[in-house]
Amino acid sequence: MKNSGQNYNVTAIGDISARGRVTLHDALGLTGSEISINELPPGASVPFVHAHKRNEEVYIVVQGRGRFYVDGEEFAIAEGSVVRVAPSGARCLAADPHTPLRYICIQTETGSLVQFTENDGVILDSKPTWLQQPGA
Ligand code: ZN
Repeated sequence: MKNSGQNYNVTAIGDISARGRVTLHDALGLTGSEISINELPPGASVPFVHAHKRNEEVYIVVQGRGRFYVDGEEFAIAEGSVVRVAPSGARCLAADPHTPLRYICIQTETGSLVQFTENDGVILDSKPTWLQQPGA
């Protein structure tokens, strides 16, 4: 499979259960964010509490259940939970004792986003084969 072009890069994370954590900044040449894909085994915790200097983080739980800690508060998280933590937030998370916790963490500089979605996207005329209709 081709894994890059003038305007794109593709990577494959493989078996996240075996690797535990995969970061995409270097693999994809990201310039505005760091993205990690993570899995904590049942009962495991990130082994430290941390904060950031400039970057906010968004944690997206895609599988499992667990607990999240921010600034002394603890709360449950589960598949579908999305948590944004400001740079100075002291954070940690752990998997439920019986299920692995799989999550994506997106790290971006706080205040760096100046436009998004319809204010940044531009609809173009080119189309993939699946949008091309005979006679169109
Ligand atoms: Zn972090």
